[in-house]
Amino acid sequence: MLTGKTAVVTGGSRGIGAAIVRKLASQGANVAVVYAGSQALAEELCAQCAAEFSGKAVAYRCDVADFTAVKDLMAQIKKEFGTVDILVNNAGVTQDGLLAMMKEESFDRVLDVDLKGAFNCIRHCAGMFLRQKHGAIVNVSSVSGMIGNPGQANYSAAKAGLIGLTKAVAKELAPKGITCNAVAPGFIETDMTRDLSGQDNGLLAAIPLGRMGQPQEVAEAVAFLATAPYITGEVLRVDGGIAM
Ligand code: NAP
Repeated sequence: MLTGKTAVVTGGSRGIGAAIVRKLASQGANVAVVYAGSQALAEELCAQCAAEFSGKAVAYRCDVADFTAVKDLMAQIKKEFGTVDILVNNAGVTQDGLLAMMKEESFDRVLDVDLKGAFNCIRHCAGMFLRQKHGAIVNVSSVSGMIGNPGQANYSAAKAGLIGLTKAVAKELAPKGITCNAVAPGFIETDMTRDLSGQDNGLLAAIPLGRMGQPQEVAEAVAFLATAPYITGEVLRVDGGIAM
């Protein structure tokens, strides 16, 4: 159980992040739900968690790509909750396009949110984790970062970078009892993949388990890694076998 623990979940307002929030809250954790624009969704989720579970849940608007804003965010969360025990870097965006036509801004924005966003959050929690000599970080990468995806040069680069970041942080912080792991989802049914689901595009045939995944299935893996004291630097695929 996570009673008395505090988790920060970025991108917690929708999709996989919302499932992670519910999963951690169901285990008794207090949760800080970080969102970019979906204030109503984030606040509704917090109200649901407060009604159903024992911990508290508070929504915070923050662009994780903004280093200074994340610094202020973590200070605010620490003030409200006392400390942070679990950090889940889940916020992410896609701006797909063929490499030959990809705009510089599309490359930069996806790297800024999906990779630098995780760095910013880890950077501004690290001091707290080091002082308290514990902390669990889970980064939400993607199979795109493991095997590459055509049309996603920016996203694959960011998600591969996130795996490198995970392993470097894992090695650096392990001596202080802090873990850092990643999950690598395949195709999960959320807003991000809305255009893919329901299409007869050969996608399902490429997934050994023959279906897209559900956000809750990723949340289970995140909760497992967030509470596994002797696992660090791991990348756990939750992908129906597509990147086997
Ligand atoms: P989603 O439904 O599009 O939700 C994205 C979440 O990220 C939202 O909560 C959004 O907040 C938040 N977000 C976006 N930009 C942000 C920013 N700059 N600062 C703070 N929060 C920001 O996506 P999802 O499918 O649940 O994906 C969640 C994570 O899983 C992402 O990292 C994604 O790359 C990864 N992933 C997804 C799949 C998949 O198949 N769906 C597969 C592999 C990996 P707002 O609601 O406020 O906009």
